Order: sequence, then structure tokens, then C-alpha cells
Amino acid sequence: MMLERLREIVQEVNTARDLQSALDIIVTRVRAAMNTQVCSVYLLDQEINSHVLMASEGLKKEAVGHVSLQVGEGLVGLVASNAEPVNLEDAKSHPNYHYLSETGEEQFSSFLGVPIIHHRKVLGVLVVQHREMRCFDEGEEAFLVTLSAQLAGVIAAAEATGAILGVSPSGQRKSDTSFAGVPGATGVAIGHAVVVFPPADIDLIPNRACTDIDKEIDYFNAALNSVRHDMTALISTLESRLRPEEGEIFGVYLRMLDDDALGKEVVDRIREGQWAQGALADVTKDHVRAFEMMKDPYLRERAADIKDLCSRVLFYLQDKDVVKTDYADDTILVSEELTAAMLADVPKEKLRGLVSVKGSGNSHVAILARTMGIPTAMGVVDLPYRQLDGRELIIDGYNGQVYSSPSDQLRNRYREVIKEEEHLVKGLEGLIHLPCETPDKHRVNLWVNTGLMSDVIRSLDHGAEGIGLFRTEVPFLLAERFPSEHEQTAIYREQLQAFAPKLVTMRTLDIGGDKALPYFPIEEENPFLGWRGIRVTLDHPEIFIAQVRAMIRASEGLNNLQIMLPMISNVQEVTGSIQIIKRAFRELREEGLEVRMPPIGVMIELPAAVYQTRALCRLVDFISVGSNDLTQYLLAVDRNNPRVASLYSSFHPAVLQALQFIVTEAHAENRTVSICGEMAGDPAAAVLLIAMGFDILSMNATTLLKVKAVIRSIPLTTAKELLAEVMQLDEAQMVRSCVDMALYNAGIDRLLRSSRNN
Ligand code: PEP
Ligand code: MG
Repeated sequence: MMLERLREIVQEVNTARDLQSALDIIVTRVRAAMNTQVCSVYLLDQEINSHVLMASEGLKKEAVGHVSLQVGEGLVGLVASNAEPVNLEDAKSHPNYHYLSETGEEQFSSFLGVPIIHHRKVLGVLVVQHREMRCFDEGEEAFLVTLSAQLAGVIAAAEATGAILGVSPSGQRKSDTSFAGVPGATGVAIGHAVVVFPPADIDLIPNRACTDIDKEIDYFNAALNSVRHDMTALISTLESRLRPEEGEIFGVYLRMLDDDALGKEVVDRIREGQWAQGALADVTKDHVRAFEMMKDPYLRERAADIKDLCSRVLFYLQDKDVVKTDYADDTILVSEELTAAMLADVPKEKLRGLVSVKGSGNSHVAILARTMGIPTAMGVVDLPYRQLDGRELIIDGYNGQVYSSPSDQLRNRYREVIKEEEHLVKGLEGLIHLPCETPDKHRVNLWVNTGLMSDVIRSLDHGAEGIGLFRTEVPFLLAERFPSEHEQTAIYREQLQAFAPKLVTMRTLDIGGDKALPYFPIEEENPFLGWRGIRVTLDHPEIFIAQVRAMIRASEGLNNLQIMLPMISNVQEVTGSIQIIKRAFRELREEGLEVRMPPIGVMIELPAAVYQTRALCRLVDFISVGSNDLTQYLLAVDRNNPRVASLYSSFHPAVLQALQFIVTEAHAENRTVSICGEMAGDPAAAVLLIAMGFDILSMNATTLLKVKAVIRSIPLTTAKELLAEVMQLDEAQMVRSCVDMALYNAGIDRLLRSSRNN
């Protein structure tokens, strides 16, 4: 009963178009549900540092929107500051009671207020009051707390939408609205949002202003006609097989498409300036919600039919030949979940910054962004991204912040940071041809991670000495089917040739986890613990062998190939893989190719592999640590989940211990050991890694010179002392601060120190 009522209220609030209507629904429904005389919502307005009475059923209407309490003032202030309910039979006798004459609340004796909390922040207070002395019982209090917890998200979202439009909850003008995310790639970007979305998902269509209304209406009508046509054809082929009531559903569908029904509503919205896809999405949402709220379960299920119908219309509207995204010259690409393909679609010279609502600092899209050197904020969970298209944004990739409606002051401040960064990069160019060695002459090998050919070119420009990780899945992610052996050969040959005679380490296909091929979907409950990396390729030897044949074929005459295996958790995976590689090699020799058997290496990315370093070393020629996954698996923190991003740290003492253990074990077996996770490209981490004894650091080309600059300023002896010191610490944050302090003392530039949240 209670649950049913909760569900109804939350659902109805969800249909609200803006903050005010959401709050109005809340106060009306809650007052009725709790059978009380007053229900009000006070929201914190930071612009005026007060809790403003935003909606009320029972208090005087003229007070709404005008009356406010300073932060900390009154019973409302008490609820907010303690973030706890206050339940009083006789409110007037409480010392915090602060009577607001405009509201007429003196007639109400009892008071129950509960905080509205979203992501640890108190947004406001939900209050019920009653004339007679009434003790709200435990059940009523719990009901209000539950309701408030569910409404917090809706209220936060509505507030954020207002903030984007430049107003605070109580209507004050507001600029520099900021949304917190996680750092994705360092740097600052100023530009205009272009919101992109995966095809065929009506829930993700952004609002967008249309330039040619008549043309947009024509598109829509044409799409509608196509669906009408499909439906009629479907009915006639199915006619004999349909039961009458099923046939009737199709009839209803057809009528919904009529010009005076759904179609008319969409056209009306287009006339207001919204593009066809956005108008369709809005109308769909309204209708779906209306159906979902119906009491009758049969009617409730019709919501799915409406969605299906509208998705059919959307399919035609998204016909590739008709709709092309218009990228602004200073595009900040925004999406609910960015993908590699979305990045690839933007002309390079137009792309300034990236924002993803989902994902985190070590998601593969973020890694790609760092490789490309594009400032990125990830996991900006509260961003009302559907409303952002065309708006000016500032991305602070150092802190993962996104600002909308920036003031001149803020814009200027960030322009300065951009200049500072450009200046720094220019200053580093002098290092390109200098060796990477510490002042006490310890030579370190700086290699690069690549994906696309453009990375290779940039890497050579930055003086890279080899490729430590070529993520071969990147070209696979951008294709529309598995590339053939010969297509792969061409891709691999380009990289080998560009780097010859320097070594190129190619990793076999590492898909699964957060890397899904559009043409080979993997649906799993626990993708990071599931069918990933070597597990997939060993199960599909035809894919595996085609890939290694392509690699070896591509190395003919160059002989600078190394092959590396990802996600290894036991020795059989290695021996099995080596057999396949040897078979490919034999086949190619038999075909008459003059090829050399490439050195083979294993990635240490799982805790299991850490403890088997020696056994693994005996099977292969080299090992390379994938610290991104190793951190995720050691700490049990999903690298892709922004909610736990603050727990993800490669400076965690457990990670550092594991890294040191791997190096010692590998060297005891006389194997070269490299590290190709993101921490290798973090100047602060690099200092620790060279002290541990890593032979090669492999990183994004964009960070290479920064790391070189730091290594050239810190003697190995100092680095070793620092390492000994941090190995005694038992907290990631303390390790980070300790290293930061050492860099500061060595005179390292601020921008070189402020890195991602490793
Ligand atoms: C790693 O896990 O550290 C790694 C280099 O591989 P990826 O980031 O591609 O999973
Ligand atoms: Mg990995």
C-alpha cells in the first residue's frame, strides 16, 4: 500500500517538465498521502545562501517563492545542517523555532521535516505540518524519508536544468554553473557543446534548435509515411495469422500516427523551434510516462508499444544520408556515453574537448582522449546533457569540471591556463632530441602507446624510442566488421614501418570489459570479470590466428615486431597462445615468407599473474605491467564507474607493493619488464617507477616530454630515497602528497605536477 503510493508519487513527479511543477506535484501529493494540513519544500539557493520556500500546499500562497530562511536558521536550517529529520509535536517550544509571519504558519503546532539529500549534499528540506498537536509516528517519518531520498535525484536534475539556463532554484541569475566529474585528460578547453548520441535510442536524443523548420517538418512527415507504409504492409502479410485483438493493436498504432494525434504534437513542437528527433523524443516521453502511470496493468504495458512505434519513426529520421551532425569550429563533444567511433567522426581540427556522463578516468575512451591530447571530463553524472547542445562550455580536464554559462571573468581565467599550458609544451620541445636520463646518468627508455596511425606520427615527433603497447582493438572498434587478415596486415605494416628499426609491441585483440565491438556484442552481468582479452581470442582461434598471421606477415623484412598477450590469468593461456602464434609463423614460412619468429610477452594485469610472475617469465621473452587493470582488480574498483572513481588510485600502497614485487621477480628471471598502464605517463608516478627498476615506461605521446622533463631533473638516488620513504606510508593520498612535495622541491612546474587522479 505504502509502496504503491510511493511509486505513484515518484512516477508523477517524473513527468514534470521543470523544477516548479515537480515541486508542486510533490507538495500536493504528499499532503494528501500523509493526511496532513501542510506540505512544503524549501530548497537551498546558494546564490543567496538561504533556504527558499519553493512550494507549499497549506501555507499562504503569496509566501511561496518569496520567503526564505538563512542557512542554519529555523527548524528547516536545523534539519539541513544536521542532515537528519526533526519531528516535533509542538514546534513552537523548540529553541530553533523561527516564525515566518508571511506564511501563516503560527496556526500549525506539529512539524516533521526531512532533508533532501543527493550525492551527500543537502539540497533542501521537505516539511509537513499539522494544526493539532500530532505526533507523526515512526512509519510516517520513514515514509517521508524514503520519499525524499527518491525525489532528490529528480529535484537535482531539475535544478541542474535551470542552472544550465542561467537561473538558480529561486530564480536568481546565475553564471559559472559547474558540474563535477572525474579528470579524463588534462588541459582546458573552451568551446560549444555538440551533443551526440548512439542511433536508435529515443531516450538519448538531445534538444537541438532547428534552422529550417519547414524542412524539418518535411523530414518528419516523410518518416511518418514510411512507418505508416511499413505498418500497412505488415498488417496485410500477417492478416491471416493475427488474432482479432492483435490486429486491433496495429490499427491503434496506425491511428496514433495520424496527423491529428501524435504526429500533430510533434509538428507543433518543431514549429516551436525544436528539431524533429528532439520533438519526437519529447512527445514519446510524455506519452510513455502517461501510460506508465495508469493503474490498469494492461494499459501500463502499452507504454512499450508507444516507444516501439516512435522508435520506428526515429529509425527513418536518423537515415544516415539525411542527417549529418554539424560540428562547431570549437566543438566540445558531449554524450551520455562517449565511444571511440563518436570521437573519430569529428573533424580533428574542430575538436576541442570531451564530456562523458558515464565512464571514468580509466575508461578506454578517456585513454583514447589522452592519446589524442584532448581535455576531457568523465563521469559528469548530474549533467543535464540533453539541454546542452549549442551552449558555451569550459572543460577543466585537470579536475574533471564542466562549466556552463561562463562569466567573462571565468573565461579569462581559463584562457590564461590554456596559454600557460601552450607555453609549457613549447618549452618542452627542446627535449625531443635529448636522451631520457637522470642527472646521475641512469638511462630510462620512454616508449609510447598507440592505437591509430595519427598517434604513431605524433609519437615519432616526440622522440619515442619504441611502441610498448599498440592497442590493436582500436582499429577493430572503428570498423563495421572484423577486418580481414589482409586489411589487418596493411594497418600493422604502417606502424611497423614508421617505427623501424625501433621495436613495436602489438597486443592481441583485447575486447570485452568496456570495449565492445559494434558487430560482436558481448552481454554479461560482470563484463570486467568475464569474457575479456585472451579469453575471447582463445575461444575464437579463427580470429586469433588471422590476427597473428597479419602481424607476422606485416613484419616481413622489418623484424621489429613483438607480440603481447592481455588478461593472462594462468600459464595454460600462455602456452595455448604460443602454440597458435607458432602455428601462424610456420604457415607463413611454408607460404614462402621471409619472416622471423617475434619475441612474445605477457601482460601482468591480474593479481593472479602478479604471484606467477616468475612462472610466466619462464615462458616468454618479456613482460609488461597493465597497471590500469591491475589497479582495478587489486582494489576491486571498476575503472569505468564514476561513483567509485575516488577509490581508484595507482598510488595505493597495495599497488606499489605489487609493482615492486613484479620488477624484482622479473629481473630475477633476467626478463625485461615494462609498464604500459596510464601511471607510466604520470610524471609523479614515473619517478617511483624508475626507482623500482622498470626498464621501459610506455605512455601516451602527449605525456612523453613531460615525463622526460621530470626524469631529467631528478637523480636516481633521490628517486630511490623517495620510493623508500613512500613504501613506508599506508595511504594513497599520503603517497601522492609526498611525491608531489618532492617534485615541488625539485622545482617542477605546477602543470607537470597536476595530473589525473591516479
Ligand atoms: C592496462 O590495463 O593497464 C592496459 C595497458 O591495458 P588497457 O588499458 O588497454 O586495458
Ligand atoms: Mg588492460
